[in-house]
Amino acid sequence: PVDRLPEIQAARLKLPVLGEEQVIMEAVRENMCVVLCGETGSGKTTQIPQFLYEAGYASGDGIIGITEPRRVAAVSMSQRVAMEMNMSTRVVSYQIRYEGNVTSDTKIKFMTDGVLLKEIQKDFLLQKYRVIIIDEAHERSVYTDILIGLLSRIVPLRNKKGRPMKLLIMSATLRVEDFTENKKLFPRPLPVIKVDARQFPVTVHFNRRTPTDDYVGEAFRKICKIHRMLPPGGILVFLTGQAEVHSMCRRLRRAFPFRSNRTGLESDPKDTEEERKWFKKAKQKKMLSLPRINLDNYSTLPVDEGDEDRQAGIGDEEDGSDLDLELGDDPGDEEEKCDPMLPLYVLPLYSLLAPEQQGKVFRPPPAGTRLCVVATNVAETSLTIPGIKYVVDCGRVKKRFYDRVTGVSSFRVTWTSQASANQRAGRAGRTEPGHCYRLYSSAVFSDFQEFSEAEITRRPVDDLVLQMKDLNIEKVVNFPFPTPPSMEALVAAEHLLVSLGALEEPPRVRSAKDMERVRLSCPITPLGRAMAAFPVAPRYAKMLAMGKQQGCLPYVITLVAAMTVREIFEETDRPAASEEENAKMAQRRARLGQMRRLWAGQGASLLLGDLMVMLGAVGACEYAGCTPKFCQENGLRYKAMLEIRQLRGQLTTAVNAVDPEARLYLDAKMAPPTESQVLCLQQIVLAGLGDHLARRVQVEELLDPKWHNGYKTPLLDSPVFIHPNSVLFKTLPDYVVYQEVLETSKMYMRGVSAVQEE
Ligand code: ADP
Ligand code: MG
Repeated sequence: PVDRLPEIQAARLKLPVLGEEQVIMEAVRENMCVVLCGETGSGKTTQIPQFLYEAGYASGDGIIGITEPRRVAAVSMSQRVAMEMNMSTRVVSYQIRYEGNVTSDTKIKFMTDGVLLKEIQKDFLLQKYRVIIIDEAHERSVYTDILIGLLSRIVPLRNKKGRPMKLLIMSATLRVEDFTENKKLFPRPLPVIKVDARQFPVTVHFNRRTPTDDYVGEAFRKICKIHRMLPPGGILVFLTGQAEVHSMCRRLRRAFPFRSNRTGLESDPKDTEEERKWFKKAKQKKMLSLPRINLDNYSTLPVDEGDEDRQAGIGDEEDGSDLDLELGDDPGDEEEKCDPMLPLYVLPLYSLLAPEQQGKVFRPPPAGTRLCVVATNVAETSLTIPGIKYVVDCGRVKKRFYDRVTGVSSFRVTWTSQASANQRAGRAGRTEPGHCYRLYSSAVFSDFQEFSEAEITRRPVDDLVLQMKDLNIEKVVNFPFPTPPSMEALVAAEHLLVSLGALEEPPRVRSAKDMERVRLSCPITPLGRAMAAFPVAPRYAKMLAMGKQQGCLPYVITLVAAMTVREIFEETDRPAASEEENAKMAQRRARLGQMRRLWAGQGASLLLGDLMVMLGAVGACEYAGCTPKFCQENGLRYKAMLEIRQLRGQLTTAVNAVDPEARLYLDAKMAPPTESQVLCLQQIVLAGLGDHLARRVQVEELLDPKWHNGYKTPLLDSPVFIHPNSVLFKTLPDYVVYQEVLETSKMYMRGVSAVQEE
């Protein structure tokens, strides 16, 4: 029996899923697998585990497991549910990578999808779970997709063994055909239960024009205007990343200082007489500067209305609304001034933020202040922040992109999808009618993709194939993917993994058909298992797995981090606008070239080429305290350096987890490698990048002048070249390995390192 507090019980009753409890629980009883769709905020994540608990799914020795694609959600939802059920976090717990509060009493367990995947590796039948809930399935994260594929097999197996298990897939959108109608996955279509959420109308305001790149500045100005001119109600701002979130928070706090910010925000602002007066004044001022605007005067546009209507409606609204005029896109300059009479309670929200900081967004803001949450994509679907009336949407999202040639990943900011933008807008209409300010035009919106593509189709799959082989899934081609990766991608992945030694060589066969069959079912090797433990591309994981020799690991970790982050050097090759600028840039290039040669070192280390430059740059930067000034002066990207530092920390933790004897600690400032370490590093690099070998074309082979100074690679028919920015540009070693090939005016190799002939 659950003993909830009366106010919690009252709040629950208002949630749309409460009305469907009977229907949902009956469907779960009658079926092994059920899909549940309901708008964000309808109560799926917080209530369904409670329904299941009360229906007895956690009695005896079975427990209820819920997976989230994000750590933030796993932590905060477990706490919320524990609180709602009036139970200890020993019973309602969470587990994320490297952290958790699960006990032997745990009955409801929130976890990231990666954690459950690792558990499947240990116990394929997931014996301790009676129910698994896959939450946020609409996000189509690679791990969610794989989990659904695995569970489609595990659930019937459990049934056969007489220990039945239930699977519940939850989605915030109705786009679930990839699961429900996929015969390979589930032979019979899954029952889908739809919960209708209460949604107040949200008026969508587009910018007339789309600001160039300064969407952060544009967002700042918009927030200032909302805060100065519109009635009370929380503001939720969508930006793309942690750094942006922080700089925005700083700017807003400067513009609208909130005094108890410095004391940790918890203290009652009315503690002292002086503060009480100050707040009174602030309130009066706010009354003056926040005239009541009758929202009925503006065309309202519920976000969940038909798409065709929306296009037309929005076009009309762009010009017709006074609210738009007042909040127009003109960049006024008066906003930067400080306004202490209008306190704004500014809170950041992003995945890596400490949980106690994240928790603040759920509490009411101090009296007399307006809440403003500056968030990344995490606030789009997984979390519902109470009291939000205004949404400011930059329309962008930071996504990982993958290099087709190398599989190296990077983060890039791109336009989001229409579905995402509508989810974001919907955050404004939870408690009363709201407004969404989009910092882009309706024309730009109509060019957005309708939905974000499943992640699995957009990237090479070598890392994924390695993870699956580590799960003893040998025939990855036969795996029931909700959306399968291309055959080409699978073959390339398997081939690479064999060459890295992560998979066993396929046996020799005669026919091409047999060849295909054995090629795609190679079992994993012990080395492959070690590699599978590192959260980087298999090429780099191989380097890490080999890095133990001669104390090289700290260098290998740094190299791998630098290669994974990429683009650590500032761009110096852009076309110049004028002669003068051209001369300046040439000067700077010359200086930066000098720096690189310095970092490349002397003697043996020269052989490591551009990779030694990376090591030297990271070392020098950390030695100087990794300041923006140092980076600017030496042509390094400050953000990249910060990312490298963070990744080095993560990889150090991972290495220690794989091999506790390593007892590695992160020493940001490394001494340069010794000569014998350099030789060792060379071998390690060659082991990881062995398939990226290039041979210099000799004079006697020069049939065509286009091959002059060119290199021949097994992958490409045309010559590739060493880039003038490379420290090996003048040396032209006979054999090199490269990190990637980038086509600009020519096919250029980047991250080049020399290979010594035996
Ligand atoms: P869904 O999963 O369908 O998006 P949730 O179960 O996450 O919905 O949220 C249901 C409601 O519970 C939301 O309207 C939200 O306001 C409230 N809620 C969720 N988490 C918290 C929390 N930590 N503090 C206060 N309210 C919360
Ligand atoms: Mg949810």
